[in-house]
Amino acid sequence: MYYLGVDLGGTNIASAVVTEKGELLGRSSIPTGLPDSPEHIAERIAESCRQAVSATGCSLEDIESIGIGTPGITNIEEGVVEYSCNLDFNDTPLSALVEDLMHRPVLLENDANAAALGEYIAGSGKDADSLVAITLGTGVGGGVVINNRLLTGFNFAGGEIGHFVIVEDGEPCNCGRKGCFEAYCSATALIRQTRRAMEANPDSLMWQVARALDQVDGRTVFDAMLLGDKTATEVFQTYVKHLACGLASVINIFQPEVLCVGGGICNQGETLLGPVRELVEQEDYARHSRHRTRIVRAALGNDAGIIGAALLPLYR
Ligand SMILES: [Zn+2]
Repeated sequence: MYYLGVDLGGTNIASAVVTEKGELLGRSSIPTGLPDSPEHIAERIAESCRQAVSATGCSLEDIESIGIGTPGITNIEEGVVEYSCNLDFNDTPLSALVEDLMHRPVLLENDANAAALGEYIAGSGKDADSLVAITLGTGVGGGVVINNRLLTGFNFAGGEIGHFVIVEDGEPCNCGRKGCFEAYCSATALIRQTRRAMEANPDSLMWQVARALDQVDGRTVFDAMLLGDKTATEVFQTYVKHLACGLASVINIFQPEVLCVGGGICNQGETLLGPVRELVEQEDYARHSRHRTRIVRAALGNDAGIIGAALLPLYR
């Protein structure tokens, strides 16, 4: 038997047929086509599922169930997306809409949680019994898996690791709070910090790397640092300090066997994670323990969400 996994994003719907060990077989990716009604989005999800099945060379009868990772707060018991600002879903019965089209059981999960589960099953947490996954993207996504179960909170809004405060009364956050981890450590935050430093330092080599403020991306600081730019190094060090502060707190709360960090910024590899580990080393409550959390890069990239969504029925 196979499982279908769907990663429903604001731009694309990516689907794949997945084995119970987390191997990806045929896949498909089609535009989400926002803005559009939930009914039309459900139709495109179904279309993407059919394409993945046909790319695999199997039939729908071989598919045990369909799992969908979706942005927003997701009532996994009722199969309803209670709220997603990206997709403009409000109490949308997404499971039922897709079930009507595909005649297969449909399970939902928040997309960051699905990605954490995917890393736990087939990625950086494959041999671990607990994992926390953190993605540094437009925002900061997070998911917590302990003893084969996702931590969802009683109302399915748990595991939002981007939104604990690391600086009281700090930078405003999209969630309405001030000083959230996300407001300092997302790719968006790093870009904002880079631009501010450039404006304050017209001589910085970051101006050579990015040319203009609207050309700044998550790599600007790293590229300028390689050129020996002092301002870039300062931006980087402050970013790493905030990241390590947040990660150390996450470790102190959960003490997961693996903490995996993903997102475009992590393409910098050890340039980023090396200094982060050094700082966390000083703040980890369990630093004297023989058993320590491993901080690693996420292994599966975008496939994590598909694999986690597909295999939801095995982990509930
Ligand atoms: Zn927040």
